[in-house]
Amino acid sequence: MTELAVPAPGTAASLDALADRPHRRFNPLTGEWVLVSPHRARRPWQGQVERPAVATRPAYDPTCYLCPGNERAGGHRNPEYTGTFVFDNDFAALQPGGAGAAVNVEELLVARDEPGICRVICFSPRHDLSLPDMELHCVRSVVDLWAEQYELLGSRPDVGYVEIFENKGEAMGASNPHPHGQIWAQRSVPIQPAREGERQLAHHERHGRTLLEDYVRLELDRGERVVLENDGFVVVVPFWAVWPFETLVVSRRPVPSLAALDDAERDQLADVVRRLTMRYDNLFDVPFPYSGGFHQAPTDGMAHPEWHLHMHFYPPLLRSATVRKFLVGYEMLGEPQRDLTAEAAAARLRELPETRPGSSQ
Ligand SMILES: [Zn+2]
Ligand SMILES: [Zn+2]
Repeated sequence: MTELAVPAPGTAASLDALADRPHRRFNPLTGEWVLVSPHRARRPWQGQVERPAVATRPAYDPTCYLCPGNERAGGHRNPEYTGTFVFDNDFAALQPGGAGAAVNVEELLVARDEPGICRVICFSPRHDLSLPDMELHCVRSVVDLWAEQYELLGSRPDVGYVEIFENKGEAMGASNPHPHGQIWAQRSVPIQPAREGERQLAHHERHGRTLLEDYVRLELDRGERVVLENDGFVVVVPFWAVWPFETLVVSRRPVPSLAALDDAERDQLADVVRRLTMRYDNLFDVPFPYSGGFHQAPTDGMAHPEWHLHMHFYPPLLRSATVRKFLVGYEMLGEPQRDLTAEAAAARLRELPETRPGSSQ
């Protein structure tokens, strides 16, 4: 049914007719829709006010379980690490092994054992930094660790997909402000990348190019949703964005995973991540909360030429450091909706500096 609602290709090239009208936008990566209501963007809003983030943190916090030398749960102690540091999550949501147990009662009560591994990556020994505060070569070493862990965990026979992500800020439920991310590696491909994989495969079979290769070419031609770019990567507010300042980071070269990036591209990835998160921090003058992470090829031993490496950033803030968007009501029961258009959000992000106010960088 959903597919039938897509207008024929070439129907209209301009958004002008929809600029002030409620409309739905199609997400070709997932096959889902988002309702856009640009005429509502100026309505008065009185909602929850988030507590502003704590202004300063110490470089080392003796009570932080991620700082170098400190004790974690279960008697583990962190080494005096000086760069990045990775360890198995002490409270992992997934566990290796398992006896392959399965349940099926009348195809209504269905469950399967799911083996996997959860790891934590500290981006820096410094408790008070985050990705945009770190020097470029330090962000590059985070990129190297992401790529290394993708290959390492993905090479295990019981791992079919490696999800690398970061949950930043109290607004996103991050329990510790120390700069860190997570890796969940498991047997199954989770729902979101599985859906994107199917749609990318269909596009690749039809056109012989990746879906995101074609999408990025369109966005670079039109320019209105491009936030920033370098020789290796392009950052856009996707046409079908749900979160107000959602972005998509796409490699120019259609590579299936982090493992396929060359040396220059790893530097370029570090560069765009750092510049984008700096713009985010400057948007509302606050350490910008988000959930962000990679989607890339499953690690099932197949080549996956249809898969195109990308990162999603899903930040919750809407109007200020204290006013956030919630996916509630119609959005839980119907489909996602937004007032601010992707074009307007991209224009806001383009205006922002890539340096800290008052910083020499
Ligand atoms: Zn810490
Ligand atoms: Zn994706």
